[in-house]
Amino acid sequence: MIRIEGVSKRYRNGHHGLLEVSLTVHRGEFVFLVGPSGAGKSTLIRLLYGEDRATSGNVLIDQFRLEKMTMRQLPRLRRQLGIVFQDVKLLPTRTVFQNVAFAMEVIGASKKDIARRVPQVLDLVGLRGRKDNFPDQLSGGEQQRVGIARALVNQPTYILADEPTGNLDPETGSGIMRLFQEINRRGATVLMATHARELVNQLHKRVVALEDGRIVRDEARGAYGYDA
Ligand code: ADP
Repeated sequence: MIRIEGVSKRYRNGHHGLLEVSLTVHRGEFVFLVGPSGAGKSTLIRLLYGEDRATSGNVLIDQFRLEKMTMRQLPRLRRQLGIVFQDVKLLPTRTVFQNVAFAMEVIGASKKDIARRVPQVLDLVGLRGRKDNFPDQLSGGEQQRVGIARALVNQPTYILADEPTGNLDPETGSGIMRLFQEINRRGATVLMATHARELVNQLHKRVVALEDGRIVRDEARGAYGYDA
């Protein structure tokens, strides 16, 4: 479970990223985080993966209390998290297979496990036939699928995605969104910040809306809700 309790984040320049935000996400949920630019979506996601710290309040992910974590403990939390960004940042000199395998190598997985798991996850994201391609031989949508495969390969409990369809045309974005739904059906909890109004409106998932650092709406089967 993700629990955010009375969290505020104030940046050094005095800007508020979040103001007294409380939010609980249970295992298995699919939650869209929406709101205009500057509302605090990225701030919230950064707090969850320990990239940034709350100024006050508590952030809990399962047994991890983020405000108490040291840098050394962070990798243990991150193993439970798959993180997907708008800008994928693949290793340009490595193939699709190697890019995904790398995420397993860094946590010390065996060659045997890598050889077994990477093809499974490439199948899931629809890139089986692309495993020997390099990133610059892929479309934007395919690159994002590699990013998703990389996030999934260590079987995280939670997927945190910040604008994963932000650089993609609507049709490609729609395919990526279907993939996240499938990942959620297979058991991962998904929290996704997005501006993809049409896609949010189609899926009828839980929608949490932020504005000026506060939660202004939280609906079980919601819609994007306003003109972005
Ligand atoms: P969103 O992801 O919804 O666009 P952000 O979380 O990026 O919103 O930003 C929320 C607020 O925090 C904005 O006012 C933004 O200017 C401010 N902010 C975000 N990151 C920083 C930072 N590193 N330093 C100072 N202010 C920041």
